[in-house]
Amino acid sequence: MENRIENLRNSLPKGAAALITNEADCFYLSGFNKSEGMVLVTEKSACLFVDFRYIEAARAASRIDVKLTHAFIKDIFTELKSEDVKTVFVEREYVTLALAARLKEAFEGIEVSEEVDVGKIIGDMRAVKSAQEISLIKSAQKITDRAFSYIITKIAAGRSERETALDLEFFMRKEGSEGTAFDTICVSGKNSSKPHGVPGEKLIQNGDFVTLDFGAVVGGYRSDMTRTVAVGKPDEKMVFVYNTVLKAQSAALAAIKPGVSCRDIDKIARDIINTAGFEGCFGHGLGHGVGIDIHENPAFSTRCETVTAPGMVITVEPGIYLENSFGVRIEDMIVVTEGGCENLTGSEKRLIVL
Ligand code: ZN
Ligand code: ZN
Repeated sequence: MENRIENLRNSLPKGAAALITNEADCFYLSGFNKSEGMVLVTEKSACLFVDFRYIEAARAASRIDVKLTHAFIKDIFTELKSEDVKTVFVEREYVTLALAARLKEAFEGIEVSEEVDVGKIIGDMRAVKSAQEISLIKSAQKITDRAFSYIITKIAAGRSERETALDLEFFMRKEGSEGTAFDTICVSGKNSSKPHGVPGEKLIQNGDFVTLDFGAVVGGYRSDMTRTVAVGKPDEKMVFVYNTVLKAQSAALAAIKPGVSCRDIDKIARDIINTAGFEGCFGHGLGHGVGIDIHENPAFSTRCETVTAPGMVITVEPGIYLENSFGVRIEDMIVVTEGGCENLTGSEKRLIVL
């Protein structure tokens, strides 16, 4: 934790402070999750400001100083003044226009600036996970794998998507997940052509593909996995699409190692899908970082020029979506290692026919 504060401090001009308002970033810096608080980092101090609802838990969990506040902006201003800070940098992506206006009005004699983007600095730090963070993500993924083994014994024609999703979530909670990593996706048949479809009352039918995209949370860290399974015998086209997605994913996984551009990894999978005749049917990025948030830096996408480094945890999730027909996505989560990458996802990937 000390390193995180120190790294952030070193990215600021001398004498300046950083005010962190994004909840995930506050957790990252303080070690206390879900506080609705703010973290102030100055040259001399680092402090988590929370209100009465969180104070007891914050004092127990936070690795930086904790201050009880009944008026965040007023108390932070007092702290800045006492340390004679002239400039405070904020998180450009997360400060609303309303908060920016309030800060500017209240911080008399102190410049509120976004010139140094504190959010980006912390985002880049968060992209490379520590051994402890990786261990939490692994624990979350283990629950996810167990949940998949369980749910394939429950998926059946006649059960609804929503019921199946609920069953999956209930199992993960019983296995120790602190919540769902994001809204569980369970889509079947024609609904599976929507990459982020919402589970509904539709009943799973024989001949459907069922796509499950879900994750667990352990110690505030998330996992993310997708599997597509067939209920009843799939037709030839379904098998071809499935195997194309699997081939694209395998090729991308094999290419991941430190020092490669994220864009190039995306291209490996995309080229295979396009060459197989599915250009335009894979309309999202190949993957995204996962950690405290479900979407973090970096991304395996056509635009991301970040170069991979050991400790980055990123998903690899190619898909083919045929409008009004069906879709397939297969998603694993990897951590970049010194020699390549380690796949954190243990679930079967050959097509499962239930
Ligand atoms: Zn996912
Ligand atoms: Zn994902």
